[in-house]
Amino acid sequence: MVRVIVIGAGAMGLAAAHRAAQLGHEVDLVEVDSVAGGMAAHFDFGGLSIERFYHFVCRSDEPTFALMHELGIGDKMRWRPTSMGYFMKGKIHPWGDPISLLRFPHLSLIAKIRTGLQMFLTTKASSFASIEDKTAREWLEKGSGHEVYQTLWKRLMELKFYELADRVSASWIATRVRRIGNSRRSIFQEELGYIDGGSQTLVDALVRAYTAKGGRMHLATSVDKVETEGGKVTGVIAGGRFLAGDAVISTVPTPLISSMVPDLPAASKAQYDAIQNIGVVCLIFRLKKSISKHFWINIVDDEIDIPGLIQFSNLRPVDETVVYVPYYMPTTQAKWQWSDEQFVKEAFSYIRKVNPQITESDLIDAKVGRLKYAQPVCEPGFLDKLPPIQTPITGLQIADTCYYYPEDRGISESVRYGRMMAEAIAR
Ligand SMILES: Cc1cc2nc3c(=O)[nH]c(=O)nc-3n(C[C@H](O)[C@H](O)[C@H](O)COP(=O)(O)OP(=O)(O)OC[C@H]3O[C@@H](n4cnc5c(N)ncnc54)[C@H](O)[C@@H]3O)c2cc1C
Repeated sequence: MVRVIVIGAGAMGLAAAHRAAQLGHEVDLVEVDSVAGGMAAHFDFGGLSIERFYHFVCRSDEPTFALMHELGIGDKMRWRPTSMGYFMKGKIHPWGDPISLLRFPHLSLIAKIRTGLQMFLTTKASSFASIEDKTAREWLEKGSGHEVYQTLWKRLMELKFYELADRVSASWIATRVRRIGNSRRSIFQEELGYIDGGSQTLVDALVRAYTAKGGRMHLATSVDKVETEGGKVTGVIAGGRFLAGDAVISTVPTPLISSMVPDLPAASKAQYDAIQNIGVVCLIFRLKKSISKHFWINIVDDEIDIPGLIQFSNLRPVDETVVYVPYYMPTTQAKWQWSDEQFVKEAFSYIRKVNPQITESDLIDAKVGRLKYAQPVCEPGFLDKLPPIQTPITGLQIADTCYYYPEDRGISESVRYGRMMAEAIAR
């Protein structure tokens, strides 16, 4: 039995702590927030318990399903036929299946054929190693053509990554296309999932199972320093006191590592510091009227400075229309400093542009969630730039959402990595 400290009680930290407790270790899980769940945590939105940040599940999210089974909540998965749209030139066009592609009015026939082919082949690919040296833009322009990149992708990439848009790797975007593209009932019907009660159902079940196994939970407690001696981890300073541990698993965003683990070699710290993240200001609206039948609307319009809208209630049925509007951006952007009111005003005006039948009186409520390290920006060859999970300090493992590159952030991958790190303790 080893004394294990897990830092961060998001999906990865919870899965690691639960697995470590299951393997018979003595575990302390330390979380700076007052609630567990990290990015997957809920909040009370006028009586509705819902994610601060939207969460959908794909058919390939096997680690989530296996864990839900193990926790006795396997029957809580729900699947719904969903659809996507593209808002362009004042109209929402259906998107995401061969017929919609053929009917799409803003691409030439050859561009449609090339897009369909590239997307189809991407969903069938088993590996993207052959495009690892390319950027998303290079890959899309080579496969689907310049016209397609300009029409469908350019503005979406620029409104998410801004000055970093041309640094995003091809295999990251291809992996994302494959994950969503394969979550289907048939070639004509996309199908996405949600957990009954939201991701909080999984968070609660993990917390219950972990504490039932004797695991200790320290909420509202920040880990300020990982302590080491003679190249071995000895514990952490958390909430102003020393917590002894023979093994430490950190799941906090990698930009925080250098200052949290000052004893790491300078070369390792430089590697963590080089990993870039963008932030997100994620708005959630309750509306009296539906915007559209689509779950996801991509937006390409010079007068709308957001890449899309997510009408979450078209996936998880709730009493009113619930819509998320994520503003991703590097935190160096001036807009990052905007007040909540500025974001709500602008985003609601965009909702009304997408569906002009929505009036001021249809807005019931809006809330704003912010996250500084929301999305790692992974450039070509990203894996070679990542420091190994097992650090040069014996007993200290470090990972965050960028470690499962080329997979995009996801609860499922965080669960897989958390469990893997817990299992590596004994080795
Ligand atoms: C807008 C948005 C939309 C998303 N959509 C989806 C989706 O549709 N489907 C999906 O599967 N996934 C989605 N994700 C991603 C998913 O939420 C994450 O991949 C997953 O929840 C990450 O879990 P984690 O534990 O790895 O990281 P986190 O949840 O970030 O957990 C890290 C934890 O560390 C804590 N921490 C930080 N510093 C300290 C410290 N010093 N001491 C103690 N604790 C600390 C943080 O508070 C946090 O709780 C989305 C994420 C966002 C932001």
